[in-house]
Amino acid sequence: MADATGILVIGERPENGGRQGITLELLGAARRLAAETGDAVDVLLLGASIPDAEANGLIAYGASRIHALAHPLLGEYNPDIFTTTVTEAVRRINPSIVLFGRTEMGQDVAPAMAFRLKTGVAMDCLDLKVDSASKRLVMVRPVYGGNARANYMVAQGRMPQVASVRPKTQDPAEPVAGYSGEVIRPQLDLDASVARTHQVSYQAWEAAEGVSLASAEIVVSGGRGIGSAEAYKEVIDGGAAILGGASGASKAACDAGFAPPGNQVGLTGQRVSPKLYIAVAMSGASQHLAGMGTAKNIVAINRDPDANIFKVSRFGVVGDYKQVMPAFLAKCRELLSQGE
Ligand SMILES: Cc1cc2nc3c(=O)[nH]c(=O)nc-3n(C[C@H](O)[C@H](O)[C@H](O)COP(=O)(O)OP(=O)(O)OC[C@H]3O[C@@H](n4cnc5c(N)ncnc54)[C@H](O)[C@@H]3O)c2cc1C
Repeated sequence: MADATGILVIGERPENGGRQGITLELLGAARRLAAETGDAVDVLLLGASIPDAEANGLIAYGASRIHALAHPLLGEYNPDIFTTTVTEAVRRINPSIVLFGRTEMGQDVAPAMAFRLKTGVAMDCLDLKVDSASKRLVMVRPVYGGNARANYMVAQGRMPQVASVRPKTQDPAEPVAGYSGEVIRPQLDLDASVARTHQVSYQAWEAAEGVSLASAEIVVSGGRGIGSAEAYKEVIDGGAAILGGASGASKAACDAGFAPPGNQVGLTGQRVSPKLYIAVAMSGASQHLAGMGTAKNIVAINRDPDANIFKVSRFGVVGDYKQVMPAFLAKCRELLSQGE
């Protein structure tokens, strides 16, 4: 794709299964990159219908053009239909950078689109930078189960540069006073026969009533050292309820039946980046850190002073959780009741 220019954010809309909040997070990242590259930032929205108010609303967050692509086949998420649509839209818009969320949609569509456009993609990026010499995109992603981070660039001559970005790793865009932009409503002929798969049923993880783990600002998480499902319910679910957060768990705690499988955080579980992650009675295995190492503040409670979790914690308490947690939660309850 010659003469590619601009940064395109692939927006998501909860109406068709998209993740709440990711569009503004990607816009925040795109604007920080644009401050260095001088590019304009566009957003692509897909849906059966996209209200003017929704499209116009994004302009206030610093987007120059909103491509609001509406079609009856885009009302529900389908990987083949979305891949075809996004690929064609990207061909027409011809951006030099395309940003997806590392979401259900992003995981399907980003690599398939990159393949169709014969370009490269880096998935699950934690950070995006601009190489000062070449002005090309540098994509930072975890490797070796989260034990290291590697920088990637799309090969010279390949366009666009495609990244999927882990939710909650980017500060969302803030409104920009007096920003002006335009809403474009492109037309696209879509054929239902491109869909090679159909969703036949859907089963939500039996888990988390209340705040969802993926979007929680606070996660209280229990490991094998919790010891029983009853203790998990009391200390982890109870703690999450007091703090208005979600319950997480290590794989060992899930495998032992202390916590539901949907609560697993880590390499083979959910990836979370909350403001506060309270790790209770877990050792801090690298596969667990791969799912929560980007949390802004990690607090660990473990009776082993040499536990690996303390290496990544901002605050650590060496002690038995059965003594530490009740006192800690009682103090939280007291402070919250005073509105602090
Ligand atoms: C391919 C692969 C993928 C994996 N994916 C994941 C994943 O997604 N998520 C994940 O979590 N793991 C994953 N694992 C497993 C991982 O390697 C660890 O085995 C697991 O994370 C350990 O869980 P844990 O810390 O709860 O248990 P342990 O390592 O057994 O740690 C328990 C901790 O509790 C402490 N403790 C015990 N009693 C108390 C007490 N009363 N008070 C305070 N502290 C106490 C102990 O000191 C110890 O540090 C994966 C492994 C493999 C091989």
